[in-house]
Amino acid sequence: MPKTFTYLVPKTLDEAISLHESHREQAAYIAGGTDVLLKIREGKLQPDYLISLKHILGQDRPIVNPDTDELYIGAFVTHRAIEKSALVRQRYPVLHDAVKNIGSVQVRNVATIGGNLVNAVPSADGAIPLIVLDATVNIYGTKGMRSVDLVHFFLGPGQTVLEKGEILTEIVVPPLPPRTGSAYVKFGRRKAMELPLLGVGVLVSLEEDMRTCAKVRIGLGVAAPTPMRAFGAERFLKGKPVTEENLAEAGSIAAEEARVRDSIRGVAWYRRELVGVLVRRMGAKCMERIKQTGADTL
Ligand SMILES: Cc1cc2nc3c(=O)[nH]c(=O)nc-3n(C[C@H](O)[C@H](O)[C@H](O)COP(=O)(O)OP(=O)(O)OC[C@H]3O[C@@H](n4cnc5c(N)ncnc54)[C@H](O)[C@@H]3O)c2cc1C
Repeated sequence: MPKTFTYLVPKTLDEAISLHESHREQAAYIAGGTDVLLKIREGKLQPDYLISLKHILGQDRPIVNPDTDELYIGAFVTHRAIEKSALVRQRYPVLHDAVKNIGSVQVRNVATIGGNLVNAVPSADGAIPLIVLDATVNIYGTKGMRSVDLVHFFLGPGQTVLEKGEILTEIVVPPLPPRTGSAYVKFGRRKAMELPLLGVGVLVSLEEDMRTCAKVRIGLGVAAPTPMRAFGAERFLKGKPVTEENLAEAGSIAAEEARVRDSIRGVAWYRRELVGVLVRRMGAKCMERIKQTGADTL
């Protein structure tokens, strides 16, 4: 039987941090609660105080800053709000592909993107698309605000660079280069809600010739203890024509880079094969999307 806790509802970031300072080891933050309440029920976490972050005022959907063209997503924005954002669907399809398949509508209605990142499981669907979009995260604590590249945010399963009491406040995505397409796939054994066997996100930007790779990002989930980028595969593809053959080679290189292991959901060799196949497929989908959207609009 889980023990009881006191639920605290601060209205500002400073109030939340100060409450955390007062109760330190006995306190935990809660946003949507879809991970934290499970941990409490399973006895893995036994806080005396749960500090809610949901009532802190902030954006309720992703927005673009018209001056800088950067995308801002508040940490307390729900997956459902991201899924329903036309802006995200049209300009950042890699993120839309990922969030629309998280859990069920009921889960997405309450679960937040910030909670997904802070929970830091290797299968977190929100992490890979944001890594391929070169996102940074803003973090607020007693020492003030700091910013960290998302790819350096994760330290291991369930571990991040957040220090005690720090709050992830916002995710910032830099402007996209022209002629950019992006795509994400979550691969599982069945369609029902489940943790993925693998998550693969790819972003490709083309030169003006609409053929040569100007920029590429390849992100892999459940392929290592933390979400990872396949840097070797990216180096291979950059500057080359984005052909089926080159995408297949990039896939093979990414498969070599993946630090996959056997688990109850799948064996390592199968996951490695999948990395190769899915990187190639997502690369091809990026190309389709660039062509569908038109060269100048993305
Ligand atoms: C049935 C079900 C299906 C699911 N399916 C998927 C899936 O397909 N893919 C997937 O990726 N996930 C899935 N999840 C996991 C979960 O929904 C996500 O990880 C969710 O985004 C967590 O967000 P939350 O707001 O609920 O976090 P919470 O549970 O409130 O918090 C999670 C952790 O982060 C901390 N925290 C939360 N927000 C902040 C913040 N802003 N700053 C600092 N610390 C913070 C909390 O203290 C806690 O440690 C599923 C969960 C359930 C129950």
